[in-house]
Amino acid sequence: MYPFTYQRATGLAEAVAGLKADPQAKAIAGGMTLLPSMKHRLAAPSSLIDIARLAELRGIRRDGNSLVVGAATRHNELTADPIAQSAIAALARLASLIGDPQVRARGTLGGSVANNDPAADYPAAVLACRAQIVTDRRSIAADEFFQGMFTTALAPDELITAIRFECPRRAAYAKFAQAASGYAMTGVFVAQFDDAVRVAVTGAGPSVFRWEAAERALSATFSVGALDALSMPASGLNADQHAPADYRAHLVKLMTLRAVADITGATA
Ligand SMILES: Cc1cc2nc3c(=O)[nH]c(=O)nc-3n(C[C@H](O)[C@H](O)[C@H](O)COP(=O)(O)OP(=O)(O)OC[C@H]3O[C@@H](n4cnc5c(N)ncnc54)[C@H](O)[C@@H]3O)c2cc1C
Repeated sequence: MYPFTYQRATGLAEAVAGLKADPQAKAIAGGMTLLPSMKHRLAAPSSLIDIARLAELRGIRRDGNSLVVGAATRHNELTADPIAQSAIAALARLASLIGDPQVRARGTLGGSVANNDPAADYPAAVLACRAQIVTDRRSIAADEFFQGMFTTALAPDELITAIRFECPRRAAYAKFAQAASGYAMTGVFVAQFDDAVRVAVTGAGPSVFRWEAAERALSATFSVGALDALSMPASGLNADQHAPADYRAHLVKLMTLRAVADITGATA
């Protein structure tokens, strides 16, 4: 690693001021992505500003029909939280499927969403649940937030403070994990609201995306059978050493079927 300084921020304003003052500084939350990137010399920040313990980034609460989760919430905290479990059980379960026990004990919701790894799990829930990404200066709709591989609407000195998920009537997440890392080869989050169905796909493309044909079919009839005539085109999907694009296209439909079956109690 290159030399760098480390500062534990005592408040959100101090953390943001530190990022503004030094364009080479980076916030560190769980460090589960940033530290390996530094070890591999893919990132070389001049200083790390630790935001993991900031009170402004903590807490899980219900607010009307929203579930508000602090950005520094660790994956295993979200899994175990009774408010999260009762508001969006599929989100709590998704968190339990991330990586391994060490990653779940350190990694945070905000770090994962800010990083926007194409194979990360949370972006599927954020996009499907019509979430708002709340930052130190504004609120960004999920539909505008995820802009491409490892790219989001965040400014370099902007910090996520919380994610505000809209609570669906019913929801489920189905994931086909890459065997070595646990990341999603393909994951599909299906959320049924009173006025819409949202189907968000992670792992299959360069960034999380909605499968709108499935949303239309499920909005007409919410059943496994409604997906019979659909198939996901392989063009534009990821192809790498783990799987070719047509395999991922197949997984998108299969994971969507499994999520709908989980919600309806049918067999996929
Ligand atoms: C072995 C392994 C397996 C994994 N498996 C999975 C998996 O199956 N599924 C999955 O989804 N993920 C997986 N991950 C990633 C893991 O979930 C990370 O925790 C997550 O991607 C990053 O969260 P973090 O808190 O560790 O962020 P950090 O590593 O601390 O930071 C990551 C980036 O986000 C920025 N950042 C952090 N917090 C904020 C914030 N509040 N606002 C703005 N920017 C911020 C940092 O500056 C940095 O650029 C895995 C990681 C490892 C090492």
